[in-house]
Amino acid sequence: MKLRKASAAAAAAIVLSITATACGGDGDSDSNSGSGGGDKIKIGIKYDQPGLGQKEPDGSFSGFDVDVATYVAKELGYDADQIEFVETKSADRENALARGDVKFIAATYSITDERKQKVDFAGPYLLAHQDLLVKSDSKISEATDLNGQNLCSVVGSTSAQNVKNDFAPKANLKENGTYSECLAGLQSGAVDALTTDDSILAGYAAQEQYKGKFKLAGLKLSNENYGIGVKKGDTETVNKINAALEKMVKEKAWDKAVADNFGPANYKNEPAPKIGVIVK
Ligand code: GLU
Repeated sequence: MKLRKASAAAAAAIVLSITATACGGDGDSDSNSGSGGGDKIKIGIKYDQPGLGQKEPDGSFSGFDVDVATYVAKELGYDADQIEFVETKSADRENALARGDVKFIAATYSITDERKQKVDFAGPYLLAHQDLLVKSDSKISEATDLNGQNLCSVVGSTSAQNVKNDFAPKANLKENGTYSECLAGLQSGAVDALTTDDSILAGYAAQEQYKGKFKLAGLKLSNENYGIGVKKGDTETVNKINAALEKMVKEKAWDKAVADNFGPANYKNEPAPKIGVIVK
């Protein structure tokens, strides 16, 4: 809000009315999230992917995507306490950006040609690979073992798409809203395998309650180039985010985020990708 050519009295009156509005708790304090430099910035993340994007019981957020998003936000002019993290499930991401619900999305969001029709991407900032999570004593060791088996994944993900188009068209695919919903089924035996990025699966396998129960098959079924999703046409933000990601790698903050978040899950990540280079 800029006050121009207002007399001192008028300015004081305006300030008073702003204060009154702000105290009114009308929830509008983040209305600048789309323009940058405002009070708050809304960022889309996952809420149930430990090591990547996780909402903790105390309301705080953790994970590699959270650390990347926080670094990027800082470069865009927002401190950590100005960030409002919003859950963007796999199937909601394009719409959340199109509607302007969030300024950007850092949520294990693979850059694909199909998605590029609807949104723009900065990055990539991580290369992951699709894999399978199965029970420790499972005999499933390759994708062809999945045909006729109960497979769980998430609607709107490349993981589910790849299963159908590519490596297990005859699997009984159940598509949930989130990956964590697949875990109970895997534990009970209702589901034979959960498929998505190895980065995500490693985080689940390392959780205290699942320790020793599940294993990753170790298959690199696809290349998942994680990008930061931005509203279609917002080239200025894409360019700023790319500069921030480059700086994050150069300053070794990227390495620190990797060690902090993937270390506990023993996830062996790929080296930092080059901005604009997609591994097909
Ligand atoms: N990276 C994949 C995707 O963007 C799978 C993980 C996810 O659903 O977020 O669809």
